[in-house]
This record gives sequence, structure tokens and C-alpha cells, in this order.
Amino acid sequence: MREGSQFYRIGFDMDGVLIDHTEIRIRLAKEIGFFLSPEQTPSDILRTIIPKDKRSVLQNTLYNNPQVALEAQIMDGAYEGISILAHAGLSIFLISRRKDPQLAIRLLSKHKLWPDYFNEENTYFVAEIEDKNEKAKVFQLTHYIDDEEGVLNALVDVPNKILFDQHNASENNTYRRINDWESLIEHLLNENPSH
Ligand SMILES: [Mg+2]
Repeated sequence: MREGSQFYRIGFDMDGVLIDHTEIRIRLAKEIGFFLSPEQTPSDILRTIIPKDKRSVLQNTLYNNPQVALEAQIMDGAYEGISILAHAGLSIFLISRRKDPQLAIRLLSKHKLWPDYFNEENTYFVAEIEDKNEKAKVFQLTHYIDDEEGVLNALVDVPNKILFDQHNASENNTYRRINDWESLIEHLLNENPSH
């Protein structure tokens, strides 16, 4: 591990970083007549395909209907990655925009991320994108990982921002793009400190 990494304070987004909604998004979209490929499921791309009103219904089902919300899978390698970071002594945090924190906690518990790695001490559930930056300041984050460019744009007080792009579908060049947890961990533990 590169010297200095142990002082990192790394914030994670939940949906699209720790949790993989690819399959459920494909299924819910199909029910309303949109046939998506996995590459079309990231939020930044979905909003260019499904109109806002229909997308809101889909997102609401995805995050707030317990039966559907609790089906969501953990992102490949996320559990292993989080435990590597925690055992290496890096400080980890979760800031998520979820309207129903209890349901989010049930999903995190199901995937064994709560309470061992994320809990009341290092987690905030917020309402708006801008609130993420406020909480990032409270946690004094040095890094934040999100799957949405707009969220990273709003995190003006976080020095190191990473776009988690699981389907390698983004055309973004503003932020470092990382496609999987193995590469993310490799980057966080060994990045050049002159970033
Ligand atoms: Mg997200």
C-alpha cells in the first residue's frame, strides 16, 4: 500500500457502486415497453432513453417497493473490496440519496455490508445531490466514488472524484473512470499521490 493511503477518507455512493441494479432496470423498463441493453441502464444514460415521468415511476419502484428493492444484487467484488479497504485501515463512508433509509439498510444488511462496514457512524442518507457535498464536508472526505456525473459535479469540496462506470458506457472525460471493484481497490491503494 502506498504511504498516505491510510489517511484517505473515502465516500461511496450506494446505488450503481455498491449495489447493481442492471437486471432489475432491464426488467422494469421492459414492462413499460423499453428494451434496454446493460450498457443503457446507468442513470446518466437511462435519462436519455426513458422520459422523465416514466423514469420516475421506474426509479420509485426500484428504490421504494420493498419486494423489488430487496432483490437488488451487490456489485461484483464490492463486498471483498470494502473489506480490503476496511482491513487496510482506510476510513470508509456511505452517502446515499434514498428516501427510505430503513429499506436501504435492509438491503445493505442482506449483502452483509451493514452494520460491519457501514453503520450509523459512517453513513448518511440525504434528499438532494447538494446535500451529498454538505455531508462529504462533515466527513472530510478525500475521495468520492459515484456512478453519476452530475453527483460528482456537485461534490465541489471533494478533491478526488471517481466515476464508477460498470458497463464502460460513459463518454465522460472529466473524471477518472473505473469499471470494476478490482481496479478501484488497486487505484485507491496504489494511486500516485500527485493526483
Ligand atoms: Mg448512484
